[in-house]
Amino acid sequence: MTKKSKSSALHNIEGVSQSEITNASSITKIQQKRKAKPSTQELIAQILKGNITALSRAITLIESSNSKHLQQASDIIKGCLQHTNASVRIGITGVPGVGKSTFIEAFGMHLTSIGKKVAVLAVDPSSSLSKGSILGDKTRMEDLVKNENAFIRPSPSGTSLGGVARKTRETIMLCEAAGFDTILIETVGVGQSETAVHSMVDFFLLLKLAGAGDELQGIKRGIIEMADAIAINKADGDNLKAAKLAKVEFNRALHLYPLKDSEWQPKVMLCSALKHEGIEDIWVMIQSYVAHSKANHYFDYNRKEQSKFWLIQTIEDRLKSRFFNHPEIKEALKTQLQLIEDGKTTPFVAAEYLLSLKN
Ligand code: GDP
Repeated sequence: MTKKSKSSALHNIEGVSQSEITNASSITKIQQKRKAKPSTQELIAQILKGNITALSRAITLIESSNSKHLQQASDIIKGCLQHTNASVRIGITGVPGVGKSTFIEAFGMHLTSIGKKVAVLAVDPSSSLSKGSILGDKTRMEDLVKNENAFIRPSPSGTSLGGVARKTRETIMLCEAAGFDTILIETVGVGQSETAVHSMVDFFLLLKLAGAGDELQGIKRGIIEMADAIAINKADGDNLKAAKLAKVEFNRALHLYPLKDSEWQPKVMLCSALKHEGIEDIWVMIQSYVAHSKANHYFDYNRKEQSKFWLIQTIEDRLKSRFFNHPEIKEALKTQLQLIEDGKTTPFVAAEYLLSLKN
């Protein structure tokens, strides 16, 4: 008997074949690998080296609702904090169909072609319901998604805008720590989400179409006020003439608004995201904004103001979720809601009572 057949005979005596043993040991290895989740320190070290797997893992922790994960996420953010500021954060908004995805694809490809590292994030509170109306479908950014200097992360799901915004803001910090120097944050031009995005970016770009009235485009006056630039997209083919006219009109309209705190006069640009035209000019304009706002110190001032704002927001969010998730409150709330239904209490008395409970 050869050595080999001897050993398999031995295993067979014990009723376990060689192949079963090999399978079992590889399964154990896989299981060990799965269990061996990287430690917080390992994740921080890997993120700082620009490791995308570690970055994605940390973002998943940020997005989790498990309190252990949140604690780990918070430690990772702390570990990355001092590496987060060397970037430009750009918010991009516009109604569905205006060409946001097409624009981000073209803009992102341009940025990576000049050596930038681009992270694309989104704030879309509806995405948990609609399964990601923006950025969810990555095929809309075919080239960027394959680009090794780009990182695309769809909107986190969350029940509230506050929750989604917090997660996105923390994700920005991690992306910056991982070496991404240009952060693009997409949001839809309806609802409150652009206010949230405006308060986490350095530059806010509004995409518009020529020839459609503001009402048609669902754009509220407040959004125009927030914009540092309006890019009239689809300025190509038969649409070019109308786009040029719209540029004149928007320029005139923008001059009627009071000067911004940044002392930057918002610009109106033309572009064709589809044909990659005007994209480079938009980047040049954003760079001149950055130079302008750094020179007059608005850039740093604004980031600090934003951080203060998010501190208060985070406290509000945490207090709210701690309150509503407390088992005693949950029960008592049900009772109080029923009492209101039965006309036996008032909202104010009920609220006083619930707030007075220990939690
Ligand atoms: P989003 O909903 O704002 O993300 O818009 P998309 O990027 O998905 O674009 C909506 C449609 O407009 C798609 O069919 C695009 O091909 C088209 N589109 C986007 N940008 C341009 C452009 O610059 N010119 C033209 N002609 N079509 C465009």
